[in-house]
Amino acid sequence: MITVVGSINMDLVVQTDRFPKQGETTLGTLYTTVPGGKGANQAVAAARLGNEVQMIGAVGQDAFGTELVAGLESEGIQVESIKRIDGASGIANILLSEGDNRIIVVPGANHSVTAEEIVAFTEQLAASDLVIMQLETPIPVIQQTLKICHQHGVPSILNPAPASGFTADFLPYCTYLTPNETEAEEIFGDNWEKALEEYPNRLVVTLGQKGAQFYDGQKHVLVKGFSTKAVDTTGAGDTFNGALGAALVEGQGFEEAVRFANAAASLSVEKFGAQGGMPNRAAVEARMT
Ligand code: ATP
Repeated sequence: MITVVGSINMDLVVQTDRFPKQGETTLGTLYTTVPGGKGANQAVAAARLGNEVQMIGAVGQDAFGTELVAGLESEGIQVESIKRIDGASGIANILLSEGDNRIIVVPGANHSVTAEEIVAFTEQLAASDLVIMQLETPIPVIQQTLKICHQHGVPSILNPAPASGFTADFLPYCTYLTPNETEAEEIFGDNWEKALEEYPNRLVVTLGQKGAQFYDGQKHVLVKGFSTKAVDTTGAGDTFNGALGAALVEGQGFEEAVRFANAAASLSVEKFGAQGGMPNRAAVEARMT
């Protein structure tokens, strides 16, 4: 069982020909709602690959909350540990225009989860094969989850996104850390490649289409990405993390697991939306051959 402790959001996506100026109203060309949130995305990525997955998080008692939970359930994810609060679900307001985006995230219910509630999930966490976290939930929740995993010898993946929430005291507790290049720079500075050497087979930096890099104890390893025609790279990192978790749980070696995650993530960029392109196992295996 993979447990994901993380965010669940509805992405409100508006496309428009140009960004409005301050105080201006313009007509948009498209509006869609798409389930998102790094936690939910990573849970879906792992579930599509055939894993048993449970999610710990929170949504509101609003219509988005109902839709978000139903969406996770339809992916086969266990949703009993998702709290429903009397308030709004988390949303990401995404404005797409001029080949660029402007995003406002309102955490809503995601920020209602507390460290005390995580303590109540100790048994579930301790019985997990692996626990995956990001930094869109309150930091004390992450600290508590990491502590429980560490105490019970449960491997954990911390995807430090957004990196502004990262603190160095996470490092001794998480088994794997998976920043992208920008996050690696924010956490370790320009010399992040040197930092890889301090955390062999634990710290892996994703490098977009180039793939991902880690240090194996003797040498730096660049696990090459799979080249493909990218339509929408949203959720590439989330697919990478869910797939890395899936591969590690089934006992793949670190390099092999990173290659599997690269293959899954390369498939995810071929379709629109974070969850839209997340592949099943057969598709990943086909890409790897
Ligand atoms: P995002 O924020 O877009 O979800 P990210 O910035 O967290 O992604 P990246 O390093 O950009 O993370 O991408 C994660 C992984 O996705 C990469 O390690 C790679 O395996 C895969 N990937 C990303 N972009 C591409 C691409 N254009 N072609 C093939 N694979 C890609």
